[in-house]
Amino acid sequence: MAIDYTAFRQEVRDWLTANLPDELRAAGRTATSVFIDKEHTLAWQRILNTRGWVAPHWPAEYGGPGWNETQRHIFAGECERAGAPHLSPMGLRMVAPCIMQFGTPEQKAHYLPRLLAGEDYWCQGYSEPGSGSDLASLALRAERDGDHYVLNGSKIWTTHAHFANRMFCLVRTNREGRPQAGITFLLLDMATPGITVRPIITLAGDHEFNQVFFDNARVPVSGRLGEEDQGWSVAKYLLEFERASSYAASLFRALEDVRAAAAAASDGNGGRLLDDPNFVARLNSIKAQVLAIEATEARTMATIAKGGNPGPASSMLKVQGTEAQQAIQELGMDVSGSVAAADPPGVRRPGGNVQPVGGEFETLAAARYLNGRAASIYGGSNEIQRNILARLTLGLN
Ligand SMILES: Cc1cc2nc3c(=O)[nH]c(=O)nc-3n(C[C@H](O)[C@H](O)[C@H](O)COP(=O)(O)OP(=O)(O)OC[C@H]3O[C@@H](n4cnc5c(N)ncnc54)[C@H](O)[C@@H]3O)c2cc1C
Repeated sequence: MAIDYTAFRQEVRDWLTANLPDELRAAGRTATSVFIDKEHTLAWQRILNTRGWVAPHWPAEYGGPGWNETQRHIFAGECERAGAPHLSPMGLRMVAPCIMQFGTPEQKAHYLPRLLAGEDYWCQGYSEPGSGSDLASLALRAERDGDHYVLNGSKIWTTHAHFANRMFCLVRTNREGRPQAGITFLLLDMATPGITVRPIITLAGDHEFNQVFFDNARVPVSGRLGEEDQGWSVAKYLLEFERASSYAASLFRALEDVRAAAAAASDGNGGRLLDDPNFVARLNSIKAQVLAIEATEARTMATIAKGGNPGPASSMLKVQGTEAQQAIQELGMDVSGSVAAADPPGVRRPGGNVQPVGGEFETLAAARYLNGRAASIYGGSNEIQRNILARLTLGLN
């Protein structure tokens, strides 16, 4: 039976109007990072779960809503339009596809329902102080001791490790041969004795990521995803999903916010900034880029929906999506003028009582701009993505 997409869009819009509380709408609208604080993101996840709409990309057999690509696209657009907070990607979008692909029946039965219900909150233990772009050089040691691995070393830049109760983690189980061949992928409990989380404060003054230390932390072998020393395949599979996250819907919303702020801002000559031809040219050029991203996303998601994986298109999306995001944030700084310089983090803290200097858009512009600089670094820097594209898409060596 043909799907009535107009009716579907109205159904989603009506449901969001009735079920997205003002407090969560405000948390989504004023977010300065893709990562919303745990309290608000999980509150929204629990509400979505009552409707079965937490994981639009999951197959129906694991609790996805069974939508096609057009429905997912409509849903994402309506969530952005309503100002819904983003859900944390580390569990639902990153480790979940790996558990579906590589997990034992017991691991699937244990982790996937807990992921949907928001009972587990995941962080990603890939990078180490000496291993970022060259991830395969990672050194966190995992030595087998009966039914456990004993972990020693550290992970760094671990986003939301201070909130997470679970980590998916790459460890070194073998130091012989190619570095890729001695890596194992573990799912572990952050409450394990011997794990310490130490904050790292960002340029914007936020506590978003951490360094995590492992001092004889004992992780059960049953937490291993895939075979020992075979974790590199799982790690790479996950990165394709990390990089192929959707950008277009939130980029369109960010562009609209800039346009609205420019309509209210002066051009310094008695007119509106939105009537300045140079400004409009920049705005439209980014819009053209976002339209191209939207088309690439639709193509990629259709491949995933047919059971494929994103492949090198995910690197293309990562580069284009993050660079468009940064260009929009730079425009946001220009629109905000000197007001953007007054950026006390207390204004942004939910419930904070520090008074903003300008309007909401101007108050958030600097924090968004600073946070956005990281987007072309995390998930594999854009230089690394370009190397991947050169090799896999252009055939260069
Ligand atoms: C905000 C933020 C959140 C993060 N969250 C997480 C997380 O939750 N979990 C996690 O595991 N990691 C996380 N990371 C880490 C991230 O994945 C790494 O920062 C990234 O992979 C780059 O590694 P690096 O920082 O060690 O830089 P390096 O690898 O040292 O790179 C330094 C510079 O050299 C360039 N470069 C390196 N090698 C090449 C090459 N072969 N060709 C061309 N240029 C090259 C890079 O592009 C970069 O510009 C996060 C990072 C940030 C900024």
